[in-house]
Amino acid sequence: MTPAGNNLERESTGMDADVIVVGCGVQGLSVARHLARRGLRVLAIDRVGPGRQTSARAAGQSVIAQTDPAMGALMHRSIEDITTFEERTGIPLPYHQVGSVKYARQEWSAEQLEREVERASALGARVSMISLAEAGLLAPHTNPSAAVAAWHAPDDIYFEPAIMADALYQDAVAVGVEFRFDVEVTGFGVAGSVLQGVETSRGSFTADRVVLTTGSWTGPLLRETLGIELPLAFVRHQYSIRGGAPKIHAGLPSVRIVEDAVYARPVGTNLMFGTYEPRPLEFDLSELPERTEQVPLDPAAVNQALANVADIFPSVQDSTVLEMRGGMVTMTPDGGYLIDQVHEAEGLYFSTGCNVMGLSVAPALGQDIADWVINGHRPASLAGFAVSRFSKSVPTDAEVHQKSLAEYEGIYRDSASRNFIRT
Ligand SMILES: Cc1cc2nc3c(=O)[nH]c(=O)nc-3n(C[C@H](O)[C@H](O)[C@H](O)COP(=O)(O)OP(=O)(O)OC[C@H]3O[C@@H](n4cnc5c(N)ncnc54)[C@H](O)[C@@H]3O)c2cc1C
Repeated sequence: MTPAGNNLERESTGMDADVIVVGCGVQGLSVARHLARRGLRVLAIDRVGPGRQTSARAAGQSVIAQTDPAMGALMHRSIEDITTFEERTGIPLPYHQVGSVKYARQEWSAEQLEREVERASALGARVSMISLAEAGLLAPHTNPSAAVAAWHAPDDIYFEPAIMADALYQDAVAVGVEFRFDVEVTGFGVAGSVLQGVETSRGSFTADRVVLTTGSWTGPLLRETLGIELPLAFVRHQYSIRGGAPKIHAGLPSVRIVEDAVYARPVGTNLMFGTYEPRPLEFDLSELPERTEQVPLDPAAVNQALANVADIFPSVQDSTVLEMRGGMVTMTPDGGYLIDQVHEAEGLYFSTGCNVMGLSVAPALGQDIADWVINGHRPASLAGFAVSRFSKSVPTDAEVHQKSLAEYEGIYRDSASRNFIRT
């Protein structure tokens, strides 16, 4: 393969890079900087720019109370990574460690909160049940008397995703990652079943290891180039930034309500309010929008969700939508990531199926994927994300669709609560 305008010096391998990372959202940036920190020559390619697609639209919330212990551990490490990033790299990464409050409105969801506290505590995370009066003091913009129970997680953080992506990019540049933007990967060079590199809109680049962190676009790319089908569903996720609600300031905690699957966190003196819609807009794999900007947003759906929680957020009802933000997320039938190797092209790795949680854990995921690429062994932290977990009983397309959508709309309910009807 002939590199087109590639400045990377070929070393003894004769390859253009040790590893090519395709897709420079937070996941790709995180993988690339960890690989380069470990001394590898890394070429990172994106058809747009660094952190400009889904990553820039995320809500930027890290939640320590996770249903799955593996996710809890990744989240724990990622929060630590974000909160120490500036100290370690010298690059500012502002965050707000203001904690979270989660409300339950019914007995079944109050029981779920108890289970969440138990699971988080087992992982060493600080999450505890609090009285409704305490919840009202922590989150004075809410009316806790409309709930029956609440927990508080003091170590949860929020941050601006675009700033996080920029910080990761700056660090990646500092540690020597070479970037190519406005370059689209269109195929892979494979000899027998061994990867040789990538084909792009600007020529070919060689490397015997490639990591695909192309977010929602990983599914279509693998299907179109190598005929690989992954169990994925594609849905819109969106939130509003609202102005005019009284008493909002940056130090308020993030607030979630189990039954209604809504979340709210401050953005300065404005409020971010988002929801997991019961019937989100879906996209077919063969017709995904090519850019996040092409995902149509619908304030009416978010306004309806806010009206549904008028009893808990009375003071926010008269707020106005200053901005809508959203994008496309990939859901899997069991709510877990798909992080794996491609057997048809030895040396090709991918990460997709973010289940609306690919931003907050990107620091730890990037480190572990880099470890895997360097050592050739899947780290224990990624063991549960292999595609083969579906091979015992391969889901049909209809099952993938139905279960993945259930994961989306039921995102705030654990498995024991799934049978309870969402309000
Ligand atoms: C509204 C919303 C709120 C969210 N809130 C949160 C949250 O609070 N916490 C959380 O953890 N997660 C959240 N998420 C999910 C999170 O945004 C994603 O999981 C995360 O951004 C995925 O990062 P990524 O790097 O995998 O993908 P992306 O950021 O989409 O990056 C993929 C990159 O690949 C590039 N690319 C694609 N195809 C090609 C190609 N063929 N050649 C070259 N480049 C290519 C794209 O240009 C893009 O830059 C939210 C998502 C949305 C939409």
